[in-house]
Amino acid sequence: MSDSTSLGSFLRRDRAMRWATGVGVGWLVVFVVLLVIAQVAHPSTALVDLPYLVPIVVAVGLSITAAVVTRGRTRIAWTLLATSNALWLVGEVVWVYYTYVLGRGPPAVSSADFFYLSSYVVAIPAILVGIGSTGHLRHIRGLLDAGLLALGLGTIGWQVAISPSLPEAPRLADFVAFAYPLFGVAIVTTLAAVGLAGRHRLPAWAALVGAGFAVAGITDAMYAYSIAAQNTDSNWTNIGWQIEAVLFGLAAVAAIRRPEPEARERPRSRDLTAVPLVIAGLAATGLILADRLDEGPLTGSTLAILLALFAGLLARQLLIIRDRTRLATQLRAALREQERLAITDGLTGVYNRRFFQEMLRIEAERAERAETPLSLILIDLDEFKKVNDGYGHPAGDVVLAQIAARIRGGLRSTDVVARYGGEEFVCLLPGAGEEVAVEIGEQIRQAIGRDAVAIGGGRSVCLTSSLGVATAGTRAARPLSEPEGLVNDADAALYRAKANGRNQVIAAGMLVDPIDTDPDLPPGLVWLADQIDAKISVHEHSTAVSRWSLLVGERLGVDVATLRRIGAAGRLHDVGKLSVADAVLRKALPLTAAEWAQLRRHPAESARLLTELGQRPDLAAVVAAHHERFDGSGYPLGLAGAEIPIEARIVAVADAWAAMLADRPYAVARTVAAAREQIELGRGSQFDPAVADAFLALVDEGLVGDLAALAVPSPM
Ligand code: GH3
Ligand code: MG
Ligand code: MG
Repeated sequence: MSDSTSLGSFLRRDRAMRWATGVGVGWLVVFVVLLVIAQVAHPSTALVDLPYLVPIVVAVGLSITAAVVTRGRTRIAWTLLATSNALWLVGEVVWVYYTYVLGRGPPAVSSADFFYLSSYVVAIPAILVGIGSTGHLRHIRGLLDAGLLALGLGTIGWQVAISPSLPEAPRLADFVAFAYPLFGVAIVTTLAAVGLAGRHRLPAWAALVGAGFAVAGITDAMYAYSIAAQNTDSNWTNIGWQIEAVLFGLAAVAAIRRPEPEARERPRSRDLTAVPLVIAGLAATGLILADRLDEGPLTGSTLAILLALFAGLLARQLLIIRDRTRLATQLRAALREQERLAITDGLTGVYNRRFFQEMLRIEAERAERAETPLSLILIDLDEFKKVNDGYGHPAGDVVLAQIAARIRGGLRSTDVVARYGGEEFVCLLPGAGEEVAVEIGEQIRQAIGRDAVAIGGGRSVCLTSSLGVATAGTRAARPLSEPEGLVNDADAALYRAKANGRNQVIAAGMLVDPIDTDPDLPPGLVWLADQIDAKISVHEHSTAVSRWSLLVGERLGVDVATLRRIGAAGRLHDVGKLSVADAVLRKALPLTAAEWAQLRRHPAESARLLTELGQRPDLAAVVAAHHERFDGSGYPLGLAGAEIPIEARIVAVADAWAAMLADRPYAVARTVAAAREQIELGRGSQFDPAVADAFLALVDEGLVGDLAALAVPSPM
């Protein structure tokens, strides 16, 4: 019962406690000496009987003090203990009165017995309140176990010690005499019960009270045995009760010195649940055997005890099962929570990146089987560093959590949202093609930017976001067999959205070379464009013009249809050079007037080929105008400003750039800086100033490089 470490350290640290212990031990030595003297000077028992009262009186006084100074449950316990000790003292006084005042000793059953036994009755609730566990169910189980222990131990004790020495016709006095050991057993088992109920870290005073009751229980049992055995020399058992009184006194001192808070619950490290089971089992076996040996068939009382034992065992097993079931339920819930946490981002509550990657793989497989598209949106908040810098990192965290909620709000239940990185989120949209995904992305962009995000303290921040969309599937550029590439595509689109000035949605499909996406691009003319590229340059001139023109178109924010025309026109603008003689195309010397005339026919020729051969009259006006100049000095028609289609104005700049950067028969390649200067020079005269500006911005951002960079296939 006792927690030797807490009691030991208390003894070591507290001077008054050490002093009281010294006095207590000293008194016990004195009492033993008195007992020896009384033994020798028989029958002068007064020498022992009156000093015997001293520690009990002291214990009562100290218990009352403890009841006054302590608080809460401890106070209730000490009030009960003080009552119990007082009843004990009254019993002793009655005994002394009979013996020394009336001079004839108490009768076999006296009021002294009433007080002694009452003191035990009060002691049991005192133990339960002071030392007992607070857990309801465990409490009940502890009591059940205690009951089983009591019944088991009582039965064994009865069979082994008491029953053999019982007189043939027992009197009331015999029963009263056995009430003491019965209460002793009850108290020891109550102590065992509160121990089995899982209370381990006891305050020092509780440990001492427990020890006192344990000594009392054992002493009572010994006394009862000595009476039953007709052993008249029972004086030595007085030492036990003296120890009990000293321990109660010390317990009171401990409680007064440290009116500690209530003991804390601690799970038991060793499982003692088998102890009551074993004892009850032993008792039952013993009962049956004894009964069989003595009287043949089972007697009524044996049967009753057996039934009580089995009922107790059954009840405690049911309680254990209930306990375990509840534990298992709690465990399952904890496990589910762990699983949820393993796939969730702690800050925002959306899924984490690992889960997203797993889902990407699964959804790609599913989409491949079902032949449905799969789209992905990558979202990066614009200029988020400014939020952290301006309002602090914690405010940034609040924003992230709220943005996550806005993103989730705009999606279908089958979509997966995850935090991809710091302030980047990713959405997986099963079944959504590019157009649907762009639509959803647009809704998300608006949801993020519509209202300011509150960050506490009455403050709020406005945010925008850039989104990259990518789609895989049978009709998309990206097959479903390579889902990882989908993230790269979305990333490239997102990068473009950032480069284009942020706060927009770009789909990877818009970036891809029109040859791959535009099924209406006439394959014959595409082939022709490649032939002409090969004639005039070592580079893929028309591919470069197409890509750069697309970049400019995006930057200027043209619609998707115009963008597609820009891409196609960039690719096919020179097919009309088919009608120009190779000698002219490759001529290094200045051209003659006739040769110039021949060359200047190629835009119109390109337009004719696209209309008649390629069935793309929509592109004819664009390619026809790609050598017009903004100031009206170009050819073939001398269109100016807005008369020139925007697609043509864009292709014109990209075409000039590609030409300047390549070695041509009539001139060596210029450096990027020199080419840049030429574009600036032509701004407003040869080129549309807005187009020239957008182009030069792309050059500065590194999005338009030299032609050599295009030799490596880019993800765009
Ligand atoms: P851009 O428009 O180019 O995206 O600008 P940006 O400032 O958002 O730049 P970028 O995306 O590169 O920077 C991300 C910033 O997000 C860097 C870091 O300070 C911030 N960040 C990343 N993770 C967290 C986070 O968990 N909490 C907070 N408060 N800030 C984060
Ligand atoms: Mg970022
Ligand atoms: Mg950012």
